[in-house]
Amino acid sequence: MQIDILYSGVCHSDLHQARDDWGGSLYPMVPGHEIVGRVVKVGEHVTKLKVGDIAGVGTVVDSCRHCDPCNAGLEIYCEEGCTPTYNGKERGSDKLTFGGYSDQIVTDERFVVTIPNTLDLKAVAPLLCAGITTYSPLRHWKVGKGQKVGIIGLGGLGHLGVKFAKALDAHVVMITTSPDKGKDALRLGADEVLVSKDKAAMAKAKATFHFLLNTIPVSHDVNPYLELLKLDGAMALVGALTPLEPIVGFNLMLPRRSIGGSATGSMKETQEMIDFCAMHNIVSDVEMIQMQDINTAWERMRKNDVRYRFVIDMASLKSAA
Ligand SMILES: [Zn+2]
Ligand SMILES: [Zn+2]
Repeated sequence: MQIDILYSGVCHSDLHQARDDWGGSLYPMVPGHEIVGRVVKVGEHVTKLKVGDIAGVGTVVDSCRHCDPCNAGLEIYCEEGCTPTYNGKERGSDKLTFGGYSDQIVTDERFVVTIPNTLDLKAVAPLLCAGITTYSPLRHWKVGKGQKVGIIGLGGLGHLGVKFAKALDAHVVMITTSPDKGKDALRLGADEVLVSKDKAAMAKAKATFHFLLNTIPVSHDVNPYLELLKLDGAMALVGALTPLEPIVGFNLMLPRRSIGGSATGSMKETQEMIDFCAMHNIVSDVEMIQMQDINTAWERMRKNDVRYRFVIDMASLKSAA
């Protein structure tokens, strides 16, 4: 289906891939994988959405559609590699995929979710990557009532992690280096703040958490955080893509802790998350920008100077022409 893009969220990976920080970037590149738009044309076999509906596109636009993960609806974990929304190649072709910093996108309905009109659409865009990246592990590790859950790092991911964990009825603790950010976490719904630089507070919180969602986007030492987990507690990594500092085996063995990772989520789960957001009125905290301001926005994002996600009003692309 063909979608007129209304809003495009600005994700950290846009900056990294545009600047080839991870290697293998393909140019020319059009970043953007937090896309909200209006359907303007559908193929004859499309049943999910119709012209005029609001559609969301996230990080993936295709997959092999026949491996075990694909058959289970977990396209992001496709054994043959999913097709990223941008900085990838269309399957069986050398044609590059182009993302959301654009006026339109054409996508298969399998990789599109329906967005209810009741939500603030510009603030929905970040849900398509940052949102599902935090929602999926909270669901996978069955976070819920009676659990103490720590969200580590307050940025684009972390602020949504706090909102989701709260809506799932957990006792939510924001774990941050900055007491200032802690205050804002309380506004977002956190029950408590734990300042990770406060050694006494960290020692007191030892072995009290059921689950930790680690959104720190850079290499770091996970050991102080692992020590916060109770028996059978788990920490999910969703931020850092680069090597971590060595993990002390003892911290995993006693008391039987585990560490895992999670990448965005399936299309089915993305729809489930959008519906969950509609029910609980959850959207991202956003700062709107014009397309013309993207370089400044990237620089500010690099310094973590955004509360909490930039979203491009794509109407500005037309006014630039
Ligand atoms: Zn992203
Ligand atoms: Zn597959």
